[in-house]
Amino acid sequence: MMQIFVPLNFLGFVYREMKGSMANIEAMFALLRQKATITDIENAPQLLLDKGKIEVKNLSFRYQSERPILNNINFTVAAKQKVAIVGSSGAGKSTLLKLLFRFYDASEGQILIDGQDIKTVNQSSLRCALGIVPQDTVLFNQSILENIRYGRIDASDEDVLSAIRMAHLSEFIDRLPNGVDTLVGERGLKLSGGEKQRVAIARALLKQSPIMIFDEATSSLDSASERLILEAIRDIAQEHTMLVIAHRLSTIVDADHILVLEQGEIVEHGTHTELLKLNGQYAHLWSLQQRERAINSI
Ligand code: ATP
Repeated sequence: MMQIFVPLNFLGFVYREMKGSMANIEAMFALLRQKATITDIENAPQLLLDKGKIEVKNLSFRYQSERPILNNINFTVAAKQKVAIVGSSGAGKSTLLKLLFRFYDASEGQILIDGQDIKTVNQSSLRCALGIVPQDTVLFNQSILENIRYGRIDASDEDVLSAIRMAHLSEFIDRLPNGVDTLVGERGLKLSGGEKQRVAIARALLKQSPIMIFDEATSSLDSASERLILEAIRDIAQEHTMLVIAHRLSTIVDADHILVLEQGEIVEHGTHTELLKLNGQYAHLWSLQQRERAINSI
């Protein structure tokens, strides 16, 4: 019987899966102890990360029903490229991430990481290898230092402090009564959405994976928080392969490639400038968001 092994900084992603039905950490751990639906092939080797290239080839997927959720998706994220996926609710963005982390196997097609089909490697090595910034970050009733260290339990204090700097959390932590030793969570400090997301960024950085998956939270951020997150993403993107599921297009204007996903298909793709020129769905979404920003800033 296989047990799902999920690194702790991936818990937020799982948490989103179950929020609404069960809400506490114990329940989340129970979920993680469930039997895995996907089993490894016998003696499946470890995923060997090299430069961090992701290739999605002719990928199609349906959950149990006949309804296709993803249909013939093709794209590549070259090493150190930043690729963004945008699309309306229900388009299939989260499903794509679930396939990347192999919560399900593709119905057709392949996902390759550094040339290895993810179906052929063992799942724990796959999940350990990918840095993820989930939409919802789970915080424990411990110090902020320990909360960040969940990204890699054996990380040295020095590595944690370096991740804090890269996640643009230093100033925030410097203002706390006990610095990195300040307690957070129910019994301690309550973090804003933007601060939590930067904790998630620091956790993901600790994995030192060449690949970072950023599942942007839908909740609105104040402009200072948004700026700090943008700066962190920009710095990290210089050294990492990045796949961003974006809701705020301002996060991804500098992406090397943007994929617009609608009803499981890539309907437009290109850079921000190319997509604006195309004057299609992306351009429409961009002008809507620009208008919203203008109204909010009045
Ligand atoms: P959002 O931006 O709202 O998170 P999304 O683009 O991430 O949306 P998905 O969550 O991937 O979209 O959902 C794509 C489609 O798959 C939706 O129609 C959804 O109802 C369906 N779906 C998602 N999870 C399951 C599941 N476990 N079983 C069956 N259908 C599902």
